[in-house]
Amino acid sequence: MKSENSGKILIINTGGTISMVHSDGNDNKSVLKPSKSWKEVIQNYQFLESLNIDYAQTSKIIDSSDMDYKIWLEIGKIIEENYAAYKGFVILHGTDTMSYTASVLSFMLKNLNKTVILTGAQRPIREMRSDGLQNLLTSIEIIEKQADNPEFKNGEECLPVVPEVCIFFRDHLFRGNRSRKLDSTNYFGFSSPNYLPLGQAGSKIKVYEERLLPQSDRQFYVDYQISTDVLMMDVFPGFNPQILKKIFEDNSNIKGLVLRTYGSGNTPQNEEFLETIRYIINSGVIILNITQCTVGSVEMGLYESNAVLTQLGVVNGYDMTPEAAITKFMCLLGKYDDREKIKERLVTNIVGELTK
Ligand code: ASP
Repeated sequence: MKSENSGKILIINTGGTISMVHSDGNDNKSVLKPSKSWKEVIQNYQFLESLNIDYAQTSKIIDSSDMDYKIWLEIGKIIEENYAAYKGFVILHGTDTMSYTASVLSFMLKNLNKTVILTGAQRPIREMRSDGLQNLLTSIEIIEKQADNPEFKNGEECLPVVPEVCIFFRDHLFRGNRSRKLDSTNYFGFSSPNYLPLGQAGSKIKVYEERLLPQSDRQFYVDYQISTDVLMMDVFPGFNPQILKKIFEDNSNIKGLVLRTYGSGNTPQNEEFLETIRYIINSGVIILNITQCTVGSVEMGLYESNAVLTQLGVVNGYDMTPEAAITKFMCLLGKYDDREKIKERLVTNIVGELTK
């Protein structure tokens, strides 16, 4: 660990396709598996060794479909221990759960004043057609060219400091807790359906200062309190309320339910469904209502079918992504016991994750 901001960027590798290798060592054949060695990952790009970066990795290098809250805590620890020493952080991550990790880190990293960018790739960086190299290099450059680098201070390409957890993918910088993986193969794999991109990278990189969160003048710290006593579920025609009720009868440890509803927050109105909702809330669980639609917001009270949910005590999740909603819930349930406090924080815009 260095003692003060060295101007360097710390790469934190958690795994994902970007740093995977083929199991038979051939670059096009056989299954992909996480590589244990950074040297092996970047062997086709020796120049990466000469960049102003240091390298760290989590204890397990994984396919991000294995992502777990314990690894989120580890990432938090690496950032906390190295916060003062580095100009910013680039996290290499699998694309499958990247939006979840970006969202949870936005809630865990308190008073963040530096840039944390998660990036990955649809093809391993070792392959010739990989999108990984561009994603990595542009992420590094977005941090490197920020205004507090004297080399770029008055330069044409000086970028504002982005005091946020972001995702960079292909050509866009997104707010992490607004981002979603919307395409499983396309190099434009991510989007931010309810908030404009924070930046764009073509031959020049642009960062839109007016879309950024304000910088904090408070002390940075990491909030490690996370609860996994949560569940997320879609409603659908033919939904059987009995099954939902049974889950809650059998699992008294569940404290929060993210309910993904239709359109502007609508659910079935049959008495059996509403009775189940009443039962769940009366047993002390908080229900957060978000929409199944990719774009748009829950508007409780717009239709009869969601006005009744408000009466029952269901909480409005506005335009939060499922990834932001569930991770925000996990952080709030980890931090607070008081249900009213949790409900109040759920509807509060904490780090740019929702618009009312
Ligand atoms: N399954 C991979 C992962 O999320 C997919 C990727 O990285 O693109 O780790």
